[in-house]
Amino acid sequence: MTHPATLQYPFDTIPAGGQTLEVAPGVRWIRMPLPFALNHVNLWLLDDGDAAVVVDTGFGLDEVRAHWSDILSRDGRPLSGIIATHCHPDHLGLAAWLAERDQAPIHMTQGEFLVAHAMWHQQPGYSIPDMLKLFTTHGLDTHRLTALEQRGNGYKRGVPALPDSYHRMFDGDVLRIGGREWRVIVGYGHAPEHASLYCEALGILISGDMLLPRISTNVSVFAATPHDDPLGLFLASLQRIKHLPDSTLVLPSHGNPFRGLGLRIAQLEAHHAERCELLLSTLDVPRNAGEMLATLFTRELDTHQVLFAMGETVAHLNYLANRGQVARQVADDGTVKFERTA
Ligand SMILES: [Zn+2]
Repeated sequence: MTHPATLQYPFDTIPAGGQTLEVAPGVRWIRMPLPFALNHVNLWLLDDGDAAVVVDTGFGLDEVRAHWSDILSRDGRPLSGIIATHCHPDHLGLAAWLAERDQAPIHMTQGEFLVAHAMWHQQPGYSIPDMLKLFTTHGLDTHRLTALEQRGNGYKRGVPALPDSYHRMFDGDVLRIGGREWRVIVGYGHAPEHASLYCEALGILISGDMLLPRISTNVSVFAATPHDDPLGLFLASLQRIKHLPDSTLVLPSHGNPFRGLGLRIAQLEAHHAERCELLLSTLDVPRNAGEMLATLFTRELDTHQVLFAMGETVAHLNYLANRGQVARQVADDGTVKFERTA
């Protein structure tokens, strides 16, 4: 298939704080601040007759709450539903708070609901000590381990409260919102059971974090599933949306709405292939993920970024191990190294 040479960004302006910008009939774009280097998240407001549906809710900050209050009081309609694409704080953060306003139901997948609670309540395999243990076996240095330990439960800061019940979404479900059908497309690798939403009539894909125009989606290995292959799962999930028309307007969680879905997927496939080649080129001797961190990430990383970078490095190494391109060597003390097989 041939693709246009570059991604097309149809909107010259971005919505200001506390404002919305219509990107299609009945679909409005909201941009909320984030307290880290990735400085914003996009949320969506869908017309639903006399009410409105929110897709993703923003990080639990007072500033975000104030923007929501402005937007919803100006809109004047009650919320009839809250859809969370996945459990990360910038998406699920204020879902419980928004739901309380109009007693609106929260729609999400079971994987996201359960892992949200697992991280919030620090359950086995999803706790900070378990993450530190995983990163220790993968050779992260003491200095960075200590910084991560002191950072504590960042999840709870971004998600002050969680719902204790929800409407469960499944892959292939069709949600009827404002007379239009939105199909749930579940994807893996970035989050446990991420839901994107596709409206064929409007030619719109709300991609969440599964397809972003400028940055590559984070894929991380968790302590509960140390042999997991999130990169393989992510790439396989992209195959499931690759067939959508190239004219589809993609509404991503970070960056601007764009067209050129096929080109973007091809770029991401090339990006990860390149990262794997880079790792393989240095694995002629056994090395651990801690040592490989500087190979994959040449810029200075803050503590928040170390978390993602380390998870991502292990993800690439597991991907190569699962395909037999590197061998995983586990020492008596549990530390893990990888070496090229050919
Ligand atoms: Zn995310």
